[in-house]
Amino acid sequence: MNIDGKQVAADLRQSLAQEVAELKQQTGITPGLTVVLVGEDPASQVYVRNKVKQTQEVGMISNEFRMAADTSEEALLAKLDELNNDPAVHGILVQLPLPKHINESRIIESIVPEKDVDGFHAMNSGRLMNGEEGALVPCTPQGCVILAKKHLGDDLSGKHAVVIGRSNIVGKPVAMLLLQESCTVTIAHSRTKDLPALCREADILVAAVGRPEMVKGDWIKPGATVIDVGINRIATEDSKSRLVGDVDFAEAEKVAAAITPVPGGVGPMTIACLLKNTIEAARRFGVRPQ
Ligand code: NDP
Repeated sequence: MNIDGKQVAADLRQSLAQEVAELKQQTGITPGLTVVLVGEDPASQVYVRNKVKQTQEVGMISNEFRMAADTSEEALLAKLDELNNDPAVHGILVQLPLPKHINESRIIESIVPEKDVDGFHAMNSGRLMNGEEGALVPCTPQGCVILAKKHLGDDLSGKHAVVIGRSNIVGKPVAMLLLQESCTVTIAHSRTKDLPALCREADILVAAVGRPEMVKGDWIKPGATVIDVGINRIATEDSKSRLVGDVDFAEAEKVAAAITPVPGGVGPMTIACLLKNTIEAARRFGVRPQ
């Protein structure tokens, strides 16, 4: 069975639109998301365009700041300081990757944690790690858990989850979320020994590697739920290209009980969860207009 991320994301956006309308009515606050894009990376431009469009569609305020590729780190920090202090801005997202001359972690840490809707600030990752209330949780990992629950139901306790990948933006936070769901979690990475055998033990397999179709059908336990985070562009024979995940979909779908396709699986969930985080930030920290 395919887990249709496009549909799940559309349903989530619909319920978020309702929440936005209620929040406006009850408090006068309209959640506002500001996206900052430095440079002209074509993929980033597409992401930002989609974010702006979907933010507006759910009734939120969307702002976008484009800064030249040679913008200095100081100029970007000054912009973020301005946004940190703007009460109409509830969520700030700096589109990554940043140009090489800018220190990414310095920029992430300069956003106030209350507006860090990407959930990458150390305060938010620390809160997630500690299992504390109030963390803004990274978007793609949230999307992974929602999709797993779509197939397995809300109770994931006792499942063995294997996460391949240990990045700060996907692997680690998704592992923490699954641990919070009382899964038994194993995190695998490039030094893991006999990865196929480990994957075969997984009830839930999350692949966040960035290697096209690395996970083969015989790595998967029959009946497992497979969440494929990878987005890889590969060349096709007609000298065009197409997107594939980290899992060999054709092989895996024969063995797994449920699997997220690429595209149309985890990808669409990321922006929907970004909107969810911004509403959460507005609800918790928004200031009522006078
Ligand atoms: P990173 O490159 O930061 O991390 C990749 C991880 O995979 C690392 O931990 C690395 O291990 C591990 N790895 C690499 N090769 C192997 C291997 N042969 N065997 C086992 N593990 C390996 O990537 P990200 O976490 O940022 O992204 C992962 C994928 O998810 C990418 O395809 C990216 O495009 C996609 N992505 C999709 C999103 C979405 O919205 N759907 C959002 C974010 C990312 P080690 O640490 O040892 O080097």
